[in-house]
Amino acid sequence: MRTKNSEVTIDELCEEIKSKLPQLDELMKRYSGTELVITSGNDGIHSGSKWPKSIYFDEKTARLKSDSLHYKNAAIDCRIWGIKSKGKEIQKRFAGDSLILFPKPWFTIIIESSCLHIQCNKYRGKNE
Ligand SMILES: [Zn+2]
Repeated sequence: MRTKNSEVTIDELCEEIKSKLPQLDELMKRYSGTELVITSGNDGIHSGSKWPKSIYFDEKTARLKSDSLHYKNAAIDCRIWGIKSKGKEIQKRFAGDSLILFPKPWFTIIIESSCLHIQCNKYRGKNE
C-alpha cells in the first residue's frame, strides 16, 4: 500500500477508514495484482455533495474547499484501473467484497472519474 506521491496526506485520516486500509490493500492485490494506491486524502480539490453551491475559499489554508468529506479526513480516493481492466467477474467480486469491508449506511463507495471514492458517513453534517 502506498500513496500516489508525497502530496497525498492520509496521516489524519479517520480511524474508521484507516483501520481497514490493510484489508483493502489485500483486496486490491487479490483482484488486480497490484497494491493499493491512494491518490487523495485531505489534499486536492474535491466537489461537495451540493457542488457548486458548497464551494468556498478557506482563508486559513488559502485553498478552495467544499463540504466534501475529504476535508474532514473522512474520505480517500484510490486507483481503480487495475480492477477496471479485469473482466466482469473480477469487478463484481471486488465490488461485493468492498461493500462487506465498507458497509452501508456507515460508508459510501462511489466511482469518481478514474478513482474509487470511499467515505465514512459519520462525519457528514446534518444537511449534507
Ligand atoms: Zn473522493
